[in-house]
Amino acid sequence: MNTIETKSNLNIRDVVTKLEKMHGKAEWAFRHDPMDELIACILSQHTSDSNSLRAFDKLKRTYPHWEQVAEAPVNQLADVIRNGGLADSKAPRIQQALKEIKEREGAYDLSVLSAMSDEEARTYLMSLPGVGPKTAAIVLCFSLNRPVIPVDTHIFRVAWRLGFVEKKQGEAKAHDTLQALIPKDIIFRFHMVLIRHGREVCKAQRPRCLECPLTNQCEYYTQMLTTEIPTNGKATES
Ligand code: SF4
Repeated sequence: MNTIETKSNLNIRDVVTKLEKMHGKAEWAFRHDPMDELIACILSQHTSDSNSLRAFDKLKRTYPHWEQVAEAPVNQLADVIRNGGLADSKAPRIQQALKEIKEREGAYDLSVLSAMSDEEARTYLMSLPGVGPKTAAIVLCFSLNRPVIPVDTHIFRVAWRLGFVEKKQGEAKAHDTLQALIPKDIIFRFHMVLIRHGREVCKAQRPRCLECPLTNQCEYYTQMLTTEIPTNGKATES
């Protein structure tokens, strides 16, 4: 059975509605312009939200202008963002992205994205050094309110367990599958509620299935029923 093709929009909307009853409904709100969002996102790679937020705050306080970040000695910049982890690789990556933007736009400014289609803007961002599909989607979704879905490890895990994507696809390709599958008007809500569900309930090692409202439509849960009786803290990722 091709499980992906069997998922109707109604099914996806039902999943979002059930999860929002459990976790609450997120509303989009502006938080950063595209430049800030891009650099904050690079800082957030492979670290916790709290660490990356601390690093971003310190970066903005130390260097109020992007030109100062671009021209700072790379070791000094790495020290400033040390709280965000992997500072010695993130500092040159940030400077490379800034240099490329300045060369293209003549300024440290990504307002050019506003006039582009979603796909054009995604392609533009992914052509910048160190920017992959997740970072591009975060910039578009959170700074410009575009219906582009960022797929992180939590969303990917919940999505393949429910049968929306194939596990063997991996996160990067799952982005394209989910982008085509999720109705545009609920992409932001889908993103937000699946992340929360993945963090708090559908955990990697010990999914709390008995607390989950999706057991009757979850392929992973159904598979577990044939091999063991799932109880909180007993089921593990295959
Ligand atoms: S039933 Fe279990 S595996 Fe399926 S989505 Fe819910 S918590 Fe995750």
